[in-house]
Amino acid sequence: MKGLMMHRPLLISGLLDYAAEVHDHATIVSRRVEGDIHRTDYRQMQARVAQMSFALEQLGIVLGDRVATLAWNGYRHMELYFAISNIGAICHTINPRLSAEQLIYITHHAADRILFTDLTFVPVLEKLRDQLPADMRYVIMTDAAHMPETTLDALCYEDLLDGQPTKRDWPDLDEETAAALCYTSGTTGEPKGVLYTHRSSVLHALQTGVSGFVADMGRDARILPVVPLFHVNAWGLPYLAPMMGADLVHPGPALDGESLWTLMETEGVTSAWGVPTIWQGLLGAIEKHGRKPAALRHMVVGGSAAPRSMIEAYEKVGVTVNHAWGMTEMSPIGSHGALPWQIDGAPFDERMALKSTQGRRAFGVEFKIVGDDGQRQPHDGKAKGELYVRGNNITSGYYNNEAATAKAMDAEGWFGTGDVASIRDDGYLQLHDRAKDLIKSGGEWISSIDVENIAAAHPKVAQAAVIAVPHPKWDERPLLVVVPKSDDDRPTLDELHQLMLHSLARWQLPDDIVYVAQLPMTATGKISKLTLRDQLGEYVHPDLRTGENG
Ligand code: ADP
Repeated sequence: MKGLMMHRPLLISGLLDYAAEVHDHATIVSRRVEGDIHRTDYRQMQARVAQMSFALEQLGIVLGDRVATLAWNGYRHMELYFAISNIGAICHTINPRLSAEQLIYITHHAADRILFTDLTFVPVLEKLRDQLPADMRYVIMTDAAHMPETTLDALCYEDLLDGQPTKRDWPDLDEETAAALCYTSGTTGEPKGVLYTHRSSVLHALQTGVSGFVADMGRDARILPVVPLFHVNAWGLPYLAPMMGADLVHPGPALDGESLWTLMETEGVTSAWGVPTIWQGLLGAIEKHGRKPAALRHMVVGGSAAPRSMIEAYEKVGVTVNHAWGMTEMSPIGSHGALPWQIDGAPFDERMALKSTQGRRAFGVEFKIVGDDGQRQPHDGKAKGELYVRGNNITSGYYNNEAATAKAMDAEGWFGTGDVASIRDDGYLQLHDRAKDLIKSGGEWISSIDVENIAAAHPKVAQAAVIAVPHPKWDERPLLVVVPKSDDDRPTLDELHQLMLHSLARWQLPDDIVYVAQLPMTATGKISKLTLRDQLGEYVHPDLRTGENG
């Protein structure tokens, strides 16, 4: 027998309407590209979103059209999230750190009809104009006073709003309507489009909202997303914040440690979200100032593995760290590291060991691990395999890309993450590597993440990466690539081995060390192993140099 309850579509428009009514006290602060600080609230945002939605329709945008954005974190970018999706068009956020070829590829692949851009990117777009879709229109996200001279034949954002009605009843869309599109940054080949629905976006916000780390943030949450609106919807914050009534502080383009420290201090930010490289930068500023930004007490870190040394450094200055794992294909949050309150009194070491894992799955996300033989592995903390996921916020296939879809989905409809993991019986997820980054030495796997994390804890190391290099006897051996804090005092391989021997076996230690001034980064702020392997293409293992063959 079926139950007798209503079925109302889960729509993004409902999030902002709710916030404007119920969370009218919450504020949205943005450091603008124009240089000043701007303040608004959900009520004003609702009015401007209505205006922009009318403007979009006047520009010919209809259900299913893709509308692109190329912009930093700020209130106008957030308005576009709602104005575009609420009328059934698709908000396609583009990562400005993509290469020119990738930018050209995805605007054509998505067939974007309009591109909204921050002032910052106008010169880049002028250069690429001839290679971008010929009929794509441009809107510059600024006011008339700041409109630049440009060859783009661009419209002005604030002019578009002018005179439009500020109230609107949103269409009752089907909840499966596509709402947003984000391409993976292509660390694993051509960028692939993930097409979120209204339903998946609202469910993601609900599922994140009930997870422990939102409770950890407190009722007075004032969140600074360094995680960009241009990648995986800033981990869902533009939907979650209006739902929970949190304040947002958008940092705009200045993402260095000092600029972030100052903004957090002056705006009373309580929680900040971003990738480990950004938080390493903020640690530098904390050291310089001799303290953390006064109100900061919570941090979400994800996107790549957070080194334990970094988690400890923050916890020691009074910032609770939540180490989360996810993917573009998962909207993105898959697991997170909010600890049960019963563990609050446990010894520091025990808590940090748990926080260094990728935490436990979010409600609504299911995990399975599959071994090389295709068999499902036990969740016993030991068995390793590729992590597969299933849930309402997880992609069922890439946008217009059957080949990539066939590769990613298994026969039972699970999505293969390409991450190698083990899962404890109490649910803690331990990521060992991306499958293609694992090092296979003499038939045994070495996790580059484990080795990197230990190296990163050494006081003379600013950043570390480990890649496999070919070896005649062992197939592959780990090579350690280090950015030293100071060139006058580089860490030796022996010093790092001493540290590693506390938790690694001798055969897992890297055989050699290479010092570099900086590591290549992907468009999402992760170390690009692909580029690093290319850069070190000429590297020869010491055994081959001496001809000893191990
Ligand atoms: P891309 O950078 O390729 O576009 P995503 O931004 O979607 O992809 O990143 C997803 C991948 O990032 C995951 O599959 C995983 O390998 C890595 N990742 C994300 N969070 C973590 C974490 N906390 N620890 C280790 N790896 C992580």
